[in-house]
Amino acid sequence: MSETKRCALITGGSRGIGRAIAVSMAGEGYDLVIGYAGNSAKADETRELCFNAASTNGKEIRVISVQADVATQEGAKALVEAAMNEFGRIDVLVNNAGITRDGLLMRMSTEDFDDVIATNLKGAFLMTREVARPMMKQRYGRIINISSIVGLHGNAGQVNYSASKAGLIGLTKSTAKELASRNITCNAIAPGFIGTDMTKEMTDAAKEATLATIPMKKAGEPSDIANAALFLASEKSSYITGQVLGVDGGMGC
Ligand code: NAP
Repeated sequence: MSETKRCALITGGSRGIGRAIAVSMAGEGYDLVIGYAGNSAKADETRELCFNAASTNGKEIRVISVQADVATQEGAKALVEAAMNEFGRIDVLVNNAGITRDGLLMRMSTEDFDDVIATNLKGAFLMTREVARPMMKQRYGRIINISSIVGLHGNAGQVNYSASKAGLIGLTKSTAKELASRNITCNAIAPGFIGTDMTKEMTDAAKEATLATIPMKKAGEPSDIANAALFLASEKSSYITGQVLGVDGGMGC
């Protein structure tokens, strides 16, 4: 990291992959805004883990957690305002908040389709639009969208989710082109099968079937995604933009 004290805003930072990203960034000395939907106990736990990670590495950081629904314009505004009020800058935005409402196409309700698009895709658009101005003023920014392997390859039972994750890739590439001249990069990570609350909901049969498609024959850890996010947030990735980085044990190759 350069000498500038960097601030990262992570949506869905209270659990799973978002938590792992927050804790890794804390260890590198980033000030943090942890967004979450409703589980304040998990957000508090993550805050503590972040302080521990920072102090283990001899870093001093500030961390705030903010409850806000990224699917609404008010929620996105509230997150960015909280970050700007507390830290005066946002260097890294990680659009990680995501939900599933799985079901076969023929039986999927319009509501389940809309809810997933609203959180996973529209939420990322609203957040990106809000941070664009402060990042352009700073002439620095890193936007990281957490897509999915199913956004690249599709998955039976997930037309809503895979459409949202494919949409995120288009959002990533277009944002990259629009903001590149302002020294703002925008990249996506496409995780494969990662052990979190989201994947706990799968049946044992579905888990086994998925594991069988992974060349490395094991699920990934949230920290595997965090390592990729740390790289894309760092100065070391400054000439990389508009890319999709698969972190999937070979599943997508
Ligand atoms: P998770 O454990 O279910 O955590 C989801 C996080 O998103 C929580 O912090 C939750 O907040 C937050 N959230 C949900 N809806 C929100 C909303 N409307 N507004 C604000 N925050 C919201 O999920 P995960 O497995 O870590 O997944 C994180 C991201 O990775 C998601 O985008 C997911 O699609 C993607 N991904 C996951 C996998 C995987 O195998 N796990 C694979 C590919 C991609 P609360 O704690 O308050 O509910």
